[in-house]
Amino acid sequence: MRFVYSDRYKIDIGAHVFQTEKYGMVRDNLLATNQAIPTDFIEPPDPNMDDIRLVHTKEYVDDMLQLRWSPRTVRSELPLTAEVVQGFMLFASGTVAACRLALEDKVAMHIGGGFHHAFADHGEGFCYVNDIAVGIRKMQMEKRIVRAAVIDCDLHQGNGTARIFQGDTNVFTFSIHQERLYPIKERSDLDIGLDEETGDDVYNEQLQNVVGRILAQHKPELVVYVAGADPFKYDQLGALRLTKRGLAFRDRLVIEACYKRGIPVAPVTAGGYALDPKDTADIHTNTARECLRALGQLRPPVQPVEPGTQPATSEPEQQPT
Ligand SMILES: [Zn+2]
Repeated sequence: MRFVYSDRYKIDIGAHVFQTEKYGMVRDNLLATNQAIPTDFIEPPDPNMDDIRLVHTKEYVDDMLQLRWSPRTVRSELPLTAEVVQGFMLFASGTVAACRLALEDKVAMHIGGGFHHAFADHGEGFCYVNDIAVGIRKMQMEKRIVRAAVIDCDLHQGNGTARIFQGDTNVFTFSIHQERLYPIKERSDLDIGLDEETGDDVYNEQLQNVVGRILAQHKPELVVYVAGADPFKYDQLGALRLTKRGLAFRDRLVIEACYKRGIPVAPVTAGGYALDPKDTADIHTNTARECLRALGQLRPPVQPVEPGTQPATSEPEQQPT
């Protein structure tokens, strides 16, 4: 299976709750557990400004490139430096690459991206470039697809994505998120706003109720799955309180639902602000494992089996990654 990843995703944003070292940790986890080899990781091509402008206004792109604080950039909660802007442009290039690979291979994951708070004409939160929208628009422009869906399971509502695709009947937007929390909500085609302390069972029941229906009714030719790690119970920004096991089951629900229907799916990592960045990296690694599982490529753990005991399974709850 192919993963889109770059060492350049480790961007210097100073001391921040958004820890960009998580991307490299996911890659290292996959290599250390024998789930991937170095050639499985695809470097995104240098960003193409024409691709960025498929989604973002000229004025906003100019502000970013000129590093200019303006009404379009001021809502960002990140520094506005050349490294940060180029990093976000590269993430968009990565999601474009992951969409293309997903259309070829059925499943391809971007260890990066998912910046769903970026609007066409401004950035917000930790998001400058809406890579999800850029990926979909680029696939449409290249006439690889007409219809797409965004299944957004990040803790936060995908407000930028919802607004960008509002009124576009070819792109279905779905967001399941913590209701009483940033951001000010936009209207997705389908929103599920959850209470604090929702937990694994209610979350996954709600998700299971709708994912099959979205795929059957909208018939997307590509799904971008926004697999945020921030619904996690020890996340610093949220209170949905899912466990790692519950999040891995969430991933399985979405990825298998797509795969079984033959719908290409490109997971992107999105948010994740656990106190311990290793937890965030574990959750994203489990998303990768669920991709591998769907493809029948999940390798069993390499460990000796004691005589007379059950061989170790590769269930997420039994596999510290
Ligand atoms: Zn989030």
